[in-house]
Amino acid sequence: MSGFYNMKHTVYKETIEIPVMGNFDVIVVGGGPAGIASALAASRHGMHVLVVESYGFLGGMWTMGMVVPFFDQENKGGICYEIVGALNALNMIKVAGPDMWAFDIEQMKLLLDRMLLKEDITLLFHTHFTTPIIENGKIMGIVVENKNGRSAYNARIVIDCTGDGDVAARAGVPFEIGRPEDGSTQPMTLMFQMSNVAYVQDYYKYHHYVDNELIQKLQDAMVRAGVMNYQFNYLRPCIIPVPGIYTSICQATHIRNLSAINSEDLTQAELQGREEVNKLFHLFKTYMPEFTHAHIDTSGPHIGIRESRRIMGEYKLTIDDIEQSRQFDDGICTVTFWVDIHQPDGDNQSKQYGKLLQPHYQIPYRCLVPLNVENLLIAGRCISGSFEAHASYRVTGNCVAMGYAAGVAASICIKSNISPRTTDGCEVVTIMTADGAVCRAQR
Ligand SMILES: Cc1cc2nc3c(=O)[nH]c(=O)nc-3n(C[C@H](O)[C@H](O)[C@H](O)COP(=O)(O)OP(=O)(O)OC[C@H]3O[C@@H](n4cnc5c(N)ncnc54)[C@H](O)[C@@H]3O)c2cc1C
Repeated sequence: MSGFYNMKHTVYKETIEIPVMGNFDVIVVGGGPAGIASALAASRHGMHVLVVESYGFLGGMWTMGMVVPFFDQENKGGICYEIVGALNALNMIKVAGPDMWAFDIEQMKLLLDRMLLKEDITLLFHTHFTTPIIENGKIMGIVVENKNGRSAYNARIVIDCTGDGDVAARAGVPFEIGRPEDGSTQPMTLMFQMSNVAYVQDYYKYHHYVDNELIQKLQDAMVRAGVMNYQFNYLRPCIIPVPGIYTSICQATHIRNLSAINSEDLTQAELQGREEVNKLFHLFKTYMPEFTHAHIDTSGPHIGIRESRRIMGEYKLTIDDIEQSRQFDDGICTVTFWVDIHQPDGDNQSKQYGKLLQPHYQIPYRCLVPLNVENLLIAGRCISGSFEAHASYRVTGNCVAMGYAAGVAASICIKSNISPRTTDGCEVVTIMTADGAVCRAQR
């Protein structure tokens, strides 16, 4: 047996001196929809802000996951309004279906860069958060890894916008994951962009978001060609027209039973996702004339993660809040998106609630305040809520609003020298309203 197999199962704990590279009022970890809004809000309220992001661009799932429909933003105002307005002015966002605005990914990246740089926010790309610095139950900063090695940054408030709740989890805040009965999460999806798709022309004729007309057309064509009983693993793929000629983004794969917070699983998911994209694309191209000249331009730089940790906070949103259209004094935004559960097993989407349940409930500020650790806030899909509630509030318009609320809250904390836990959520709402980040929308 080689020496390799005799290796110990653990290694010694490193004790190294980590240089402190900067001091900030607010550090935002993760530059997705929640992160960019947190940073903008904090900076516009006078804070010195650092954004730490693993990728070389902002946008999170918008850009790294190629998730281009900007849902539940119409009633939000604020940053949502600014983004849609700026992309519209460039003709880089279009109405791609009922309640669906889809944008050009490269223009979104550039716009977000410019919006944050205009506010003098410090950006640190290609940098991975590794460890929180905790003293006496308070987060005092973060340790990161990048090409420079390991370094630390001090902050008065840290906002966890990693989607996965990496900061809160490593700080020891309890979290939940998946559905209550077995911990299974919604499937992952590798999005991809196609060009030369004549189908996009007839999009409105064919496309219904919940129905399965696209796959039905493909199945019919395959049966006509003599291919019977082909098993698809997701029966509701959708093709989303985006700016460009015959260009579309396709959401067609469902990768199940793998964890988004385990790198072996993520590796497997990326491999499986690419194979599935390739397989489905060839079926389209072979059997549907509208796809004869289609070409895959690219798949997402990161597989799409619908769900991972839900960090436990001062309030946990539940399906009851949604069913009761619950409003809160500290309600920081109104969610109107349905409970969209891509089932962890089977090929069903939203079998429990579907579009029958049209929500109109609020997210209280307290969902952004994690248990146990002071001076930490959470925003985006990792906030405190149940499996079902998460399936509704997770869409990006709501993540932007949550981020904005966290940024405002951080500035209140710093100016008043208080912690997020003792911050009055009603004050956050008042400031958001004054800023035009509308939170009590009418339907
Ligand atoms: C396939 C799919 C389809 C979807 N469809 C829609 C849709 O049509 N419309 C819609 O509005 N929403 C949709 N969603 C939901 C939406 O995309 C997400 O819920 C939303 O992007 C979450 O925003 P966030 O800011 O919380 O996190 P994310 O968008 O996940 O961003 C997190 C950011 O943090 C960074 N990060 C993570 N960990 C670290 C770390 N340790 N150190 C440094 N940086 C880190 C990431 O690189 C990323 O940039 C979809 C999601 C998926 C997966």
